Amino acid sequence: MALTLYNTKSRSLEFFAPLAAPTVTMYACGPTVYDKTHIGHMRKYIGDDILRRTLILLGYNVKHVMNITDVGHLTGDENETGEDKIEKGAKREGKTVWDIAAMYTREFHETMRAVNVLFPTIEPKATDHIPQMIALNEKLVEKGFAYETAQAVYFDVSKDAHYGELSRQKLSDKETGVRDDVVTDPEKRHPADFALWFKRIGKFADHQMYWHSPWGEGFPGWHIECSAMAMEYLGETIDIHTGGIDHVPVHHENEIAQSECATGHEFVRFWVHYDFLTVDGEKMSKSKSNFYTIEDIHAKNIDPLAVRLLVMQTSYRKPLNFTWEALTSADGQLKKLQRFARTHTEEGAAQQVVTDAFTAALCDDINTAKALATVWELLGDTSLSEADKWATLLHMDEVLGLRLKEVPKLEITEVARSLIAKRDAARTAKDFASSDALRAELESLGYEVKDTPSGTVIE
Ligand code: AMP
Ligand code: ZN
Repeated sequence: MALTLYNTKSRSLEFFAPLAAPTVTMYACGPTVYDKTHIGHMRKYIGDDILRRTLILLGYNVKHVMNITDVGHLTGDENETGEDKIEKGAKREGKTVWDIAAMYTREFHETMRAVNVLFPTIEPKATDHIPQMIALNEKLVEKGFAYETAQAVYFDVSKDAHYGELSRQKLSDKETGVRDDVVTDPEKRHPADFALWFKRIGKFADHQMYWHSPWGEGFPGWHIECSAMAMEYLGETIDIHTGGIDHVPVHHENEIAQSECATGHEFVRFWVHYDFLTVDGEKMSKSKSNFYTIEDIHAKNIDPLAVRLLVMQTSYRKPLNFTWEALTSADGQLKKLQRFARTHTEEGAAQQVVTDAFTAALCDDINTAKALATVWELLGDTSLSEADKWATLLHMDEVLGLRLKEVPKLEITEVARSLIAKRDAARTAKDFASSDALRAELESLGYEVKDTPSGTVIE
């Protein structure tokens, strides 16, 4: 089955095929590790995970690189103002920048584990790839695409005829993008020029993280990090690059500019962007303090895997408004699937008609809502044996990632079995007093008792 993906570059649906099948090269912009991970981030990483699992289902071998941004991402990243986020986190918590980065990387990993996101094949840290970034910057300076000022080295957007194509912005629109009251480098030639290297002077004189370079001590700009790490591990042209929609106008535009000017050819074939998880219509973010973490979810006794179901109910290209009611309802659906998993042990044969419908939904630009509909149809299908249903559901869970195989099975002891048999006999004989007493006895053993047309069922 062929996968169709929406490519931000062409603003249209396109058939996806990798450059060198069966391998798919996929680069995912990773987190800036300066503060807590929230479920807004997880919308993006669950999205990457579903895309990767779909590619695996289709028989591809996915080389998935996700970076860790531990230097160079400024608080005002649209116009390069403010301070380095990691340095800001360090000041806030009275720790070193290295401790902050390590602590929040760990926290990010815990969140990934909680929502069962597969770890990337390679997870490079920006601070481990400074020589690659310097080399790329040198190439851009040599080719005349970059210039040095007293404060930094900038990419010269006027030299790139294609600049702005991803976000469909004209360079002239960007000229008014910076407010007059924001003090930037007076030697900067165009407001959209962006830093490839910041020198450790002026407001950055006290930067804890810095390296030696042909332009003196300093640290890399955020955008060059992703270009350098993507090319280091995936080559100069990669199949898929992902990010949140906020990355389209600046970060990804800049990644394309510097990568393509350095190599002379296409950097990314498919750009995939996730819309936001919002709260009351606003992006869930640390700066707005409208965010929730995995601990908040645990505190409400909700299974973190319910976040996966919540995310899958909406197209990744549409905003998803977060409410606790919606998450609680997703948790109820998850419990239904877990109950099924708990009571099914015998694996029959996965039903191809059903799995084909499931895969077809995913091939339709990762239509997870449609894919979930095939799951509920499967559970309600009375024409299939329970064993076949279970095998089919397990196949689907390779992409859903709800850990259904790991759900502990219901253990029915010999004692319970004999109580059930006695209770069924009592009910047939319309001896309701004994039937009620036997129910109480089963409940005292920790079972939940249900009456069904085929007799007593326990959970
Ligand atoms: P950051 O750590 O801020 O660089 O964000 C890491 C990734 O998470 C980026 O690709 C963001 O676009 C994405 N992201 C952050 N907040 C949200 C949100 N509320 N909804 C969807 N994606 C988000
Ligand atoms: Zn990036």
